[in-house]
Amino acid sequence: MQGLAGKNALITGASSGIGQAIAIRLATEGCNIAINYRKSPEGAEETEEIAMQKACGQVEECGVKSLLVQGDVSQEADIIEMVNAVVEQFGSLDILINNAGIQLECPSHEIPTLDFDNVLSVNLRGAFLCAREAIKHFLSRNRGIIINVSSVHEKIPRPFYASYSISKGGVENLTKTLALEYAERGIRVNAIAPGATITPINEAWVNDPQQKAVVESHIPMGRAGTAEEMAAAVAFLASEEAAYITGQTLFIDGGLTLYADFREAWS
Ligand code: NAD
Repeated sequence: MQGLAGKNALITGASSGIGQAIAIRLATEGCNIAINYRKSPEGAEETEEIAMQKACGQVEECGVKSLLVQGDVSQEADIIEMVNAVVEQFGSLDILINNAGIQLECPSHEIPTLDFDNVLSVNLRGAFLCAREAIKHFLSRNRGIIINVSSVHEKIPRPFYASYSISKGGVENLTKTLALEYAERGIRVNAIAPGATITPINEAWVNDPQQKAVVESHIPMGRAGTAEEMAAAVAFLASEEAAYITGQTLFIDGGLTLYADFREAWS
């Protein structure tokens, strides 16, 4: 896609799932990738290996660079260090992908405050702080791109997952607010909203055929999405082909947000 080759991208939570697929896709498009991980260097190394293999094939040095950056996005000091490390190693930062996320199932009246805070501090506060640090750098060059990995639950309420739903509702507003605040300064801010996607966060149902069938029965297209399908949309939004798009959330959900109950005519 136009305008991605040679760009420097930081992807949070890139040691698995959607973040891993985004890192691989961006490297394939010629981006240098900084792979953030919190706890799993093995996962980050796997991301790096696949990404470099896809980007370079048999060529030893094809010009695409990679970097592993450890950091917990709920920790401000880690974020500052991480963004500085990327700028130092790559020379600049062009693209931030706020992908790191966690979820927690609990009836709302029973959720411990610390657990609630933890989900918000990773999914929303973490995304904001990463954006803040990236924007400081973007402003020195009057250009930059942020893509937040939100969820269909920025729109669809999710009982028993209130902290998650609330965090993604916040990500929708974060996307719009930053897009408006920095539109004149060459900074674009968008989001993707994945529907049910086959990744480790959904291990409760992806490996259980019966549970998977139940989940997929609610999806108009009849199947869950793949991490690669999410990454394709991120690559588009990060590319020059999306140069006039800002403040938008692109839903990639097989029709999940189309009120599936209306598939059949109601008498
Ligand atoms: P995943 O569990 O594979 O990925 C989440 C990643 O975030 C992991 O690599 C994890 O290590 C990282 N992470 C968690 N806490 C972190 C922290 N404090 N600091 C740094 N990294 C941290 O699951 P996934 O499905 O790939 O999730 C990626 C994003 O996609 C999340 O934001 C999630 O909410 C969103 N999403 C997923 C789905 C889905 O169905 N899989 C649907 C909608 C949105």
